[in-house]
Formats: sequence, C-alpha cells, structure tokens
Amino acid sequence: MVLVYSNNKKTTIEMLGKASEIAKEQKKKVTAVIIGKADENLAKEYISYGGDQVIIAETDLDFKAEEYADMLANIVKDAGIATIFIGSDRNGKELSARLGGKLNAGCVVDSNNIYIKSGKLTAERVVYSGNAIAVEQFNTKPAIITVPPKAFDPIKKDNSRKGEITKKKIDTEKSQSKIVKVQEMKSEGVNVEDAEIIVSCGRGFKNKDDIKLVKELADVLKGKTVGCSRPIAADLKWMSEDHWIGLSGHKVKPKLYIAAGISGQIQHIAGMRDSGVIVAINKDPEALIFKSADYGIVGDLYEVLPKLTSAIKDKMG
Ligand code: FAD
Repeated sequence: MVLVYSNNKKTTIEMLGKASEIAKEQKKKVTAVIIGKADENLAKEYISYGGDQVIIAETDLDFKAEEYADMLANIVKDAGIATIFIGSDRNGKELSARLGGKLNAGCVVDSNNIYIKSGKLTAERVVYSGNAIAVEQFNTKPAIITVPPKAFDPIKKDNSRKGEITKKKIDTEKSQSKIVKVQEMKSEGVNVEDAEIIVSCGRGFKNKDDIKLVKELADVLKGKTVGCSRPIAADLKWMSEDHWIGLSGHKVKPKLYIAAGISGQIQHIAGMRDSGVIVAINKDPEALIFKSADYGIVGDLYEVLPKLTSAIKDKMG
C-alpha cells in the first residue's frame, strides 16, 4: 500500500498521481489520509485523482507534529503500508522526520523524482545547491519520501473512479509541547507557486522604486505576478518573501518566466527551471541565466523593459 498525506490539498492531488504510478508497478493500492474534520467531498476528490481508499482520521486537534505523527504511525501499522509520501512543506518535513523515528523508517526529503529501479523504490533529490542529484534507495520498510509542491503533475480527474472512505477515531498520545504563539508571516498575498506568468527582478535593479518596471510588464501580460531573486527579498528587503524564487525560496512552474537583472546562479535556477518558456534580460552576454533561457535579450533592463512593455501593450490592444 502507498500512503499519501499532506494538509495541502493541491500537493496531495499531485502526490496521488505519482503514488498511483508506483502502486501500479508494485501491484498495490493507494491510500490518501485526511487528518481533521470528516470532509467526505474532499475524500471523493482524492479518489477521483487516484486514491483507492481514503482514511479520515477525525480529530479536533490542530497540527502538532508529534500528535499527527502518532496518528499516521497507527494508520501505517494497521494497514501494513510500505511506502509513504508526505507533502514537503514546513509541517510535512517535521512530521516525516518524527514519523521516521516512530517507525524506524528511512526518509528521503524533497524528492522530485520517484521510480522503481531493479525492484527497489528509488527517490532522487537535488543536492549541493542544485549542482548534483542524489539517487537513493531504501533498505528498510516502510519508506518515507517527502514531496515538494509542483514536483509531479496530477493525473486527469476521473469522477467515475470508485474507492473506499473509512472514518477512524485514532487515540493519540498527548504531546508534551505547547504552542505558545502563532504569528502570521508578513505577506503581500502573492502566490508565485500558482502563477502562470511571472516577471522576476534581481540585483540588476539599482533602486527599490525601479521594480515598477517589472510590475508594469507583469500587468500588461495579465500575469500580474512579480517574483525576485534572494538578494531582493532577503538582503535588500525590497519585496516580501512570498516573491522569493529559488532553492531556498518558492519553486515555480509558470508557462512564462521572465528574469530581468538576474545572473542565473544555480540556487535561483533550481526554483524556476521547470517553467514552460524562460526569457532572460541581462546586460552581460556571458550571464549564466542565458544557459537556462529559451530566449535571451542582451541589454540594459532600464531600456529593454519599457520597450518590451510598450510593444506587448500595443500587440495586446
Ligand atoms: P547577481 O548575481 O548580483 O546578478 C545581477 C545580474 O544583473 C548580473 O548578471 C548583471 O549582469 C545583471 N545586471 C546588472 N545591471 C543590469 C542592467 N542594468 N540591465 C540588465 N542586467 C543587469 N538565490 C535565489 O535567487 N534564490 C534562492 O532561493 C537562493 N537560495 C540560496 C541558497 C543558498 C544555500 C545559497 C548559498 C545561495 C542562495 N541564493 C539564492 C543566492 C544565489 O547564489 C545568488 O547569489 C543570487 O541568486 C543572485 O541574485 P541576482 O541574480 O539577483 O544577483
């Protein structure tokens, strides 16, 4: 059995596609887990995206990794599950480590490719800041793999798929830890991960105010989403962290990614390399970004961006 869990619906649906593929090869079934309130509509949706079974672990408890890991460990032991996919967000990473500890299971974090090789479950992940790929196999069962958002495409939704929905009340060992404060992260409400068009800026911009040039281009492209490299969000703090793209920022997969004044260091590329079409604007013809770009414009962004915006505006009426 392959188990899939994330408290993020989209990530669960993406993982279900990959889980179905692995389960098919192993002649096993796919189980999605919902922890929280009994949402049968969500359970049905998980079935239409590849789940053979959905276990709803009903609880009023808010997320606490110790308690959720305890519930998942019970489900895994009960159902004899061999492979576990956990969504790789902040909660998921903590959860998977604790679950690994409880089950004495191996855990591969942030895998972006999973397959069966020589009969063994194999997971790949990017290491050394994107300079190498580690290929890892499991010697023990169960095996835990955390999967970042957008790593896999969901399978086509099929509402005619049938599956079993089971509700369970699972006793949990009360955690000793106490959440003393929950503070909302500063955000400008941007969701780069779901954007179809992103125009990004880097340290090629001289002043904070100049960022309006990327905003104007994003506006005419009807994308409206602006991204940035790490220095813009982390060092200069010209933009909030929800714009930050790369290895330590957000991983994006838009149809169109325009990078202006970004050098193309591997840590930035790691976050946007799966974009459909990549356009780079850089005044340095040797800039690394051109190696990853489908189209390159060698020039000063202060000249190129206004011209591009105006040309697209004319074209789009
Ligand atoms: P620079 O490298 O300074 O590049 C600026 C570019 O602008 C240059 O290529 C220059 O030719 C061009 N330019 C200058 N003026 C103009 C102009 N007028 N017109 C056109 N072009 C111009 N970085 C990320 O982005 N995301 C991450 O998630 C991330 N994670 C990291 C994690 C680790 C562990 C480490 C060590 C680093 C990470 N970095 C990340 C940082 C990364 O290594 C680079 O330092 C960073 O991406 C560089 O940002 P940049 O391209 O904006 O700036």
